[in-house]
Amino acid sequence: MRCAAGIEARQVNELAINIDPIQAGGRLTADAMKAVIAYGDGYSVCDNCRKPNRLDYISKPPIAEFHREVAAWLGMDTVRTVPGARRGFQAVARTYVDKGDPVILTSLSHYTEFLAVEESGGIAREIPAGADHIVTAEAAAQKAEEVRRESGKDAVLAIIDMVDYQYGNLHDVRAIASSLHQYDIPVLCNGAYTVGIMPVDGKALGVDFVVGSGHKSMAAPAPSGVLAATAERAGEVFRTTGITGDVTSRKFGIKEPAMMGCTLMGATLVGMMASFPEVRERVRHFDTELANNRIVLSALQSIEGTRVLSEMPRKHTLTRADTTASFDTVAQKHKKKGFFLASELEEKGITGIIPGATRVWKFNTYGMTTAQAQYLAAAFTDIARHNGLNVA
Ligand SMILES: *Cc1c(COP(=O)(O)O)cnc(C)c1O
Repeated sequence: MRCAAGIEARQVNELAINIDPIQAGGRLTADAMKAVIAYGDGYSVCDNCRKPNRLDYISKPPIAEFHREVAAWLGMDTVRTVPGARRGFQAVARTYVDKGDPVILTSLSHYTEFLAVEESGGIAREIPAGADHIVTAEAAAQKAEEVRRESGKDAVLAIIDMVDYQYGNLHDVRAIASSLHQYDIPVLCNGAYTVGIMPVDGKALGVDFVVGSGHKSMAAPAPSGVLAATAERAGEVFRTTGITGDVTSRKFGIKEPAMMGCTLMGATLVGMMASFPEVRERVRHFDTELANNRIVLSALQSIEGTRVLSEMPRKHTLTRADTTASFDTVAQKHKKKGFFLASELEEKGITGIIPGATRVWKFNTYGMTTAQAQYLAAAFTDIARHNGLNVA
């Protein structure tokens, strides 16, 4: 099947169980697929745009209502949609960071946070995670203190990942934010792996901003995401334009420069909206996701030599495993080398781990049924046995 000459139809999620860490939470709902088709045309959400002409005011389709609902759902006052979590970091960084300003990240921060800081001229200062790969409030306070001492000024912003992309560990954002607020540092909670996956309440976390990724965790098309702010911070990051043309004297009303006026204008936004009822419901059943994750983990752990590098018990379905002393010993002798693992998984209809990886690799069980989790668990132990590894 082809979409057009040279473009094959993609059937990854139709034909396989996909455990790709970054793809599990972004798979579209059936309603989002319908929305993508209906709103694929450029500027399609603009049919009923009326004064004051801004995306978040449009009521048909119910974009304005969606903005209010997402803000309430995240325990924040104001929300805007953005083309990816990274664009949320960028809008906030551009608001607070000037050349040479220190910004607090962590040793587990995503690269897009670094780029947002770089692009604003800031300097990245990382809170080191502990030996357990957890970022603590104490380490955050220490870093804030160090920044003050060394640069003679306080950090102007902190971006803290609620769940990091490396280990899938859950960090105590509430305690970290509270300690950074003692230095008056605005705190952005990066919910790229949590908003749309598990409950996130920005008020309870005490953060100034919450950012989510539509295509990673909200069953939405790419590029999409949300940037939510408290009322106090909304006026800063969502400030309205003040520029005037010198020839025409034109002004641009209530457009927001940090958002470049309007953001998501078609399939991305309406896809995210169409998935939202299901997404809002699914975060309430995250315990089932963790139970499925445990089924797979206990199978992996029954394979002699396998270690889990993520915190235990798991608080998120993204998990980092070390199979240097199990699957990698097979790879040393196998004719397919390290590719044997992905290849044998593929034969069993499982996709999404990096081909060739047999030492340290990540997987995400999010969104699978319990039957699929059991199937995946059995696949791992079968492959292990079949290749001569001991399984308890
Ligand atoms: C995936 C990811 C991002 C980037 O999200 P986009 O929506 O693609 O911009 C940022 N931070 C973390 C922790 C991520 O895992």
